[in-house]
Amino acid sequence: MPMKPYKIMCQQINCKNCANFKIASRWSDGGVEELKTYALVCEDCLRDAFRTSNFKHKKCRTIAGEVLVPPMIFELQTGVHSGQLVRRIDIENSMVS
Ligand SMILES: [Zn+2]
Repeated sequence: MPMKPYKIMCQQINCKNCANFKIASRWSDGGVEELKTYALVCEDCLRDAFRTSNFKHKKCRTIAGEVLVPPMIFELQTGVHSGQLVRRIDIENSMVS
């Protein structure tokens, strides 16, 4: 029997769609760099989740030497390393209004 591809569900409350996008921002302390995930959501919830992520981001405090860039939108692909995710700057720009 073929294996079913692993599906990630949208994290928004009451949403039963599969997640298509990852909202994350790059965090760095000057040496180590990692992707801090804010949300995993479907296309329908993306706009709300991106707004919430930006709000959360503004409340995040960083200590001296730490860098946390504003949230970015990535296409969610299973089995792809987080460093290889495709960033959707076009969608980010369309949401800034
Ligand atoms: Zn959703």
